[in-house]
Amino acid sequence: MSQTFTITVLPGDGIGPEVIEQAIHVLKAVEKLEDVTFTFEYARLGGCAIDEDGTPLPEETLEKARRSDAVLLGAVGGPKWDNNPAHLRPETGLLGIRKALGLYANLRPAFMLDCMVEVSALKEEVVRGVDLMVIRELTGGLYFGEKKRYKTENGEVASDELIYHEYEIERIVRRAFEVARLRGKKLTSVDKANVLESSRLWRKVVDRVAHDYPDVELRHQLVDSCAMELLRWPKQFDTIVTENMFGDILSDEASMLTGSIGMLPSASLADGNFGLYEPVHGSAPDIAGKGIANPTATILSAAMMLKYSFGMERAANAVEKAVHKVLNSGVRTADIAKSKEEAVSTKEMADKIIAAMHEVYVQA
Ligand code: NAD
Repeated sequence: MSQTFTITVLPGDGIGPEVIEQAIHVLKAVEKLEDVTFTFEYARLGGCAIDEDGTPLPEETLEKARRSDAVLLGAVGGPKWDNNPAHLRPETGLLGIRKALGLYANLRPAFMLDCMVEVSALKEEVVRGVDLMVIRELTGGLYFGEKKRYKTENGEVASDELIYHEYEIERIVRRAFEVARLRGKKLTSVDKANVLESSRLWRKVVDRVAHDYPDVELRHQLVDSCAMELLRWPKQFDTIVTENMFGDILSDEASMLTGSIGMLPSASLADGNFGLYEPVHGSAPDIAGKGIANPTATILSAAMMLKYSFGMERAANAVEKAVHKVLNSGVRTADIAKSKEEAVSTKEMADKIIAAMHEVYVQA
């Protein structure tokens, strides 16, 4: 039976619209391969919404997102809005939509293709074969706790509350065990249980949930040790689960193992099949409008959407394999090219991926 999915598309700012355009082309190519129809509903988020609607997260955008099966986001932000007050900053829209849609599980794969080993800043033997997933709790912890700022006789004081409820920990940890089960069956839970009370609760919940997943090997690790080990020997990790701020930092660190931020996708999942999919990178104002951004991260984010929200495993694999094939054949955008001369444009990269997709799909 033919399937129909509605996707809310939020191109955002900077290179966002450029990379989103190419991801949409890829999804339209998927429509030709599978018995599926995508309806694209465009809406504004971030700087463009501040300019047009006077708020980084218009109600209309939220309504569209809630009515849809998944959200595809480019990136938000840019120097134009850098000095705005907090409620008029593009990032506020991003935090707001994650919270409003209950997107509590952020999945960020970091993988090293053999043909990309030379791009990494680390030694070849360290990065060759890296294939890990960082799962970050996205709607709790320090970023959402109460914030205070006040003056005393001894100067200003600022505080941010770090609070976690047991249910918030349990749902992300369960998700992480499920993901680890489908990968290498090894889960590392990262905390700071030697110092933080919230981490001690985190560890207790992880140990309890672990009883339901006897087939997954569990290890606890302190965040400072994990940060070090990620650089020393990243291949020891398969799936990592951690709270919001630790995950923010570790997932960025992990992404750098693989060379370019223009390659890395992410998924932010709610309960059920709903999710928001976006590249890890930002709006890259330094290259916006030049048609040279690497669309791979956004295209791979669309592949994650096919897999996690629509259950279209075969199409998702075809997109991933096509990306690998194109990179293996030496095609490079400027961010990963050895010289400017050999670099292809955003559109050329996507066109090559779409052409390769047809080939790998027929072979699969
Ligand atoms: P950035 O990721 O936008 O850019 C960092 C560097 O990587 C730049 O040199 C950029 O040119 C390059 N780069 C990023 N994506 C690329 C791609 N697809 N192809 C080729 N090169 C790419 O990070 P930044 O410069 O720290 O932030 C710029 C703006 O983006 C800021 O306003 C920031 O707040 C925002 N931001 C948004 C998100 C998001 O929307 N999720 C995430 C991070 C940063």
